[in-house]
Amino acid sequence: MTVTVRFAPSPTGNIHIGNARTALFNWLFALNNGGRFIQRFDDTDVERSRQEYADNILTDIAWLGIEPVAVEYQSKRFAIYEAAVVKLKAAGLLYPCYETAEELDLKRKIRLTRRLPPVYGREALKLTADDRAKLEAGGRRPHWRFLLPNFDTDPFSPRRTEIRWNDLVRGEETVDLASLSDPVLVREDGTYLYTLPSVADDIDLGITHLIRGDDHVTNTGVQIALFKALGAEPPAFGHHNLLTAATGEGLSKRTGALSIASLRADGIEPMAVASLAFLTGTSENVVAARDMADLAGRFDLSATSRSASKFDPADLVVLNRTLLHGMAFAAVAERLAALGIAGAKAEPFWLAVRGNLDRLADAVAWWRIVAEGPIEKPELSDEDRDFVRGAFDLLPPEPWDGTTFRTWMDQVKAASGRKGKALFMPVRLALTGLPSGPELADLLPLLGREGTRARRP
Ligand code: GLU
Repeated sequence: MTVTVRFAPSPTGNIHIGNARTALFNWLFALNNGGRFIQRFDDTDVERSRQEYADNILTDIAWLGIEPVAVEYQSKRFAIYEAAVVKLKAAGLLYPCYETAEELDLKRKIRLTRRLPPVYGREALKLTADDRAKLEAGGRRPHWRFLLPNFDTDPFSPRRTEIRWNDLVRGEETVDLASLSDPVLVREDGTYLYTLPSVADDIDLGITHLIRGDDHVTNTGVQIALFKALGAEPPAFGHHNLLTAATGEGLSKRTGALSIASLRADGIEPMAVASLAFLTGTSENVVAARDMADLAGRFDLSATSRSASKFDPADLVVLNRTLLHGMAFAAVAERLAALGIAGAKAEPFWLAVRGNLDRLADAVAWWRIVAEGPIEKPELSDEDRDFVRGAFDLLPPEPWDGTTFRTWMDQVKAASGRKGKALFMPVRLALTGLPSGPELADLLPLLGREGTRARRP
């Protein structure tokens, strides 16, 4: 069977680096196994879900380099959930309950005082057709619970029933179904909780590996039981650890902090985001992966830490710098052109400045410096100004290349007796207006003799 995975956020906000981690775990798993990645939007909550967020999420994952083979919306798949409900009801595995939240709370307290586990006691299973009719005549609407397979013949005598799975990340996991309440799958108003649509979709879409955050470990026992109740073989499960902010606080979609969109707007490269989102909390060092294939080569689910991992947004800038420094011109030519950096000089310019950029857009200031001169007129002491003027009078004749600067400085050194910083810094200031930046040897051919002379103080 073709490996098939899905990333299933609710489109209730923009995704952050923690959500990107889940998407990447799935995508890299698919890449390494010749599999398919499905983008699924869990948008059954119509109040909170918005198409705009779904669109943003599609933009974000595309920017990261993830290519879904299909995009599905749960809001368009209700027929599948209704069919699952019919199937479960016919099998006697979905039963109507009428308790209010207060009544359930009271029941729970009573069970605790009797030293019974505080799970739902299945009292609604005892209701007769008459009881139900009366309750409904009184205005009550049922919610529907899934009868967990944790008993032999008598549902009122549950027994320890272990559901086991070999988690792709965490290894052997066990849940005792007797420790759980029968989960509500359908609410009073007919809306679905997450469990049933998710499992019905995973079956319908042929999901073979279900990879998600470890906040869902506790849902897995019930879901495996539901897969089986619906006549399907459960997929393999893998639960990766979650990322937390440096403070240890969990990341939330609603805060918008560190959203993928904000990082993109801030000029962080997609592979910097992907490298940090994916490699934090694995056994691999957090280094900048050049591309997805590079990242996929570092993919080892079982080597992922089981505890939450702090990530440091400051690392993004470091990774970004590393990526830019090694980036070939062909990889950025289009983006540079969009910034107005184009023409015959664009490539040598890129190779000269890429080592000095925190963000790609920083290239714009350098392009301007190369084309027009220092952004602010450099302040030179009288002595340095005289020195630079003398130096400019010694500019070698064209043609210029990467060796010209050296030739020129050798002459200036011999003529002035200056060396080291005293020799180079006033020249750098005169040429760029800044005390640091790209190698002057690389900049000089870009300026040309005329462009250089125009900067004579
Ligand atoms: N919509 C669920 C979530 O975002 C999906 C969980 C799952 O992957 O099963 O948490």
